[in-house]
Amino acid sequence: MRQLLKRNSVYKRLNINQLISISCLLCRADTPMNKPVCNLCIQALPIADKHCLLCGIPVLANSSDLCARCVQKKPAFDICHSAFNYEFPVDHLLKKIKYHQQLIYLPPLAEQLSRTLLHHYDGKVWPQAILPVPLHNKRLRSRGFDQALVLARQLVKNLHPYQQMKLETHLIKRQKHTDPQQGLQASQRKRNIKNAFSLTGTPDYQYLAILDDVVTTGETVSEITRLLKQQGVKRVDIWCLARTPV
Ligand SMILES: [Zn+2]
Ligand SMILES: [Zn+2]
Repeated sequence: MRQLLKRNSVYKRLNINQLISISCLLCRADTPMNKPVCNLCIQALPIADKHCLLCGIPVLANSSDLCARCVQKKPAFDICHSAFNYEFPVDHLLKKIKYHQQLIYLPPLAEQLSRTLLHHYDGKVWPQAILPVPLHNKRLRSRGFDQALVLARQLVKNLHPYQQMKLETHLIKRQKHTDPQQGLQASQRKRNIKNAFSLTGTPDYQYLAILDDVVTTGETVSEITRLLKQQGVKRVDIWCLARTPV
């Protein structure tokens, strides 16, 4: 096919991706081969625009900068940046990635997270490294891949032209096999995640970014933040593709 196209003079003026199209994974409209989701669908995704300035949960457009929970008690981490609200179709896409290994959906979502981060850290100090939330070996074996690590690699690649980010994958270990946090009551989540992680050494960082695909109550990322801060890390930002309202 490519050979044929190369011989065609039209090819010389057009990018091959414009000639070979595939169906958008969401609406089935034609989209260039390098874009699994069409531009219209990307623009319609629920971007996290109005959110609590600390924990990142979606808040109403006319409400204050902090959610009611953060006004009462600040989270363990310093700030949470989310690309999207956990709403349709983002929730649907994230489940396809996580439970059906359809990693093709990840790059368009990671692209928006990269944009969100570039916007926020413009002129500011970036974290020294990205620390993806680790999976327990048992879950890694059953799922076959670590979605936070795949996302982290994609982000490092996306951010590379602007900011070179180190990937930290050895500092934190998940020592307890826990039930998935989604579907548990708030008190159960806390108990479920307690002592789930351990440090493999003393952190050589002042400032880190913890990365996960979805942040729900924030118990998981708060637990890791507490561990890091107990060992001298001064600031911990949370990065995620989507933040749930609770
Ligand atoms: Zn589409
Ligand atoms: Zn908040």
